[in-house]
Amino acid sequence: MNIDKAITEMQAVLGERLSTKKSDLDFHGQNEAYYPFTPPDAVAFVQSTKEVSDIVKICAKYDCPITPWGVGTSLEGHALPIKGGLTIDFSQMNKVVKVYNEDLNVSVQPGITREELNAELRTTGLFFPIDPGANASIGGMTATRASGTTAVRYGTMKDNVLALEVVLADGRIIRTGTRAKKSSAGYDLTRLMVGSEGTLGIITEITLALQGQPEATAAAICDFPDVESAVNTVMMAVQMGVPIARIELVDSMMIRAINNYSKLDMVETPHLFMEFHGSDVGVAEQSETMKSITGEFGGGEFQWSTKVEERNRLWAARHNAYPAARGLKPGFTGLTTDICVPISQLAKAIGDSEQDIADSGLLGPILGHVGDGNYHATLLVDADDLEMIATAKGVAHRMAERALAVGGTVTGEHGVGIGKMKYMQQEHGDGWSVMADIKRALDPQNILNPGKMVQVN
Ligand SMILES: Cc1cc2nc3c(=O)[nH]c(=O)nc-3n(C[C@H](O)[C@H](O)[C@H](O)COP(=O)(O)OP(=O)(O)OC[C@H]3O[C@@H](n4cnc5c(N)ncnc54)[C@H](O)[C@@H]3O)c2cc1C
Repeated sequence: MNIDKAITEMQAVLGERLSTKKSDLDFHGQNEAYYPFTPPDAVAFVQSTKEVSDIVKICAKYDCPITPWGVGTSLEGHALPIKGGLTIDFSQMNKVVKVYNEDLNVSVQPGITREELNAELRTTGLFFPIDPGANASIGGMTATRASGTTAVRYGTMKDNVLALEVVLADGRIIRTGTRAKKSSAGYDLTRLMVGSEGTLGIITEITLALQGQPEATAAAICDFPDVESAVNTVMMAVQMGVPIARIELVDSMMIRAINNYSKLDMVETPHLFMEFHGSDVGVAEQSETMKSITGEFGGGEFQWSTKVEERNRLWAARHNAYPAARGLKPGFTGLTTDICVPISQLAKAIGDSEQDIADSGLLGPILGHVGDGNYHATLLVDADDLEMIATAKGVAHRMAERALAVGGTVTGEHGVGIGKMKYMQQEHGDGWSVMADIKRALDPQNILNPGKMVQVN
């Protein structure tokens, strides 16, 4: 009833951009994982911060839940409106607000995707380095504290967001942070909002740090007899401070999947995919260092290239790993895990996961952002087979438990959403109830993405 009243009032603000069309509701009720279809009651296609503030005030008046939506690539059902209500879709707030060339930063609206942003930056000599594989929105990436293949060199969203504009649950519009490189002024509200998954505020503008486009880029791959040798190579590279831009582990089963999907003929053993950024001399030096480290740990041929086509071919194969993995079992879906451990624990953690997956009878190729101690198994399941899903969840659960036992986390980059809620108490202890206190202070009616991140009732 209240939601109907909220919808009527919001229609007066947004007109046709407040949609209750079945196709719009259905689109915003699905997700990249296996969580049940959960459509909202209405979708708002907003175009300005003021509109967001106006509709949030209406939702607050009627206790109407609000779930922000970037492009819906999150993997734990984050953007599913599990309590119904309104989804705010940011696809029409996708502009670059201003590029500050000399300061190496940019302000953007939340709906711009990372590929759109980099296309806009191409002529400036700058680029935004965070790459979660999917062409996610900058708002969604900020809200999930995303990272990906380049985090080993450039950090995660927490390191690259300088400032935010945020609409709070009562409709107030605040600014957090500044464009200065550092600040000691007060609580760090920017970092509080980064990773808050739409539960503390709605992000309407983001100021990001940028990097200069490297003069030279080189790519390399190398095969290894086993995962341990590959991980030891990475550990040595990290300990020596090689400024490698990407270093990705791909296990034997994933190599098989990639060979099939991308029509390649790599030997079916674990591989490292690497990328180097810098000057011509710098990338050559980094590559030489990595070549000698890979040799030390039993690596095979070190294939290295600065040619654009060759680099693109290699990294396209890596970037297509998810559809490639799904190609191992056509018709199945992927249940993706995401643990992160201290790097000294990584080889054992991956070995234990591989053994557990083999024992379960499932197919579950693994790849990892190993420079950060973060890896994913894509457990292939028939979405209609409840027993198989339970088996996969068992494997994922044991991975999470093992990560916590060695001082790691249940999610390195995908975030909490629905799937990781059950581990929050275990990972954070009393810290989790402090998170609930923060939620109560900023969203006392619990209207922002309710049912996620914390327990407030
Ligand atoms: C094939 C594949 C590979 C992936 N690989 C990686 C990877 O390597 N690393 C990684 O980090 N992630 C990875 N992801 C996950 C995904 O891309 C990220 O979670 C992404 O950051 C989500 O962005 P989005 O625009 O899709 O957000 P959505 O899925 O739309 O939303 C995600 C969350 O953010 C909230 N949100 C969205 N916009 C706002 C806003 N403006 N204000 C407040 N809250 C908001 C939503 O409510 C939701 O809780 C992968 C996904 C896929 C499908």
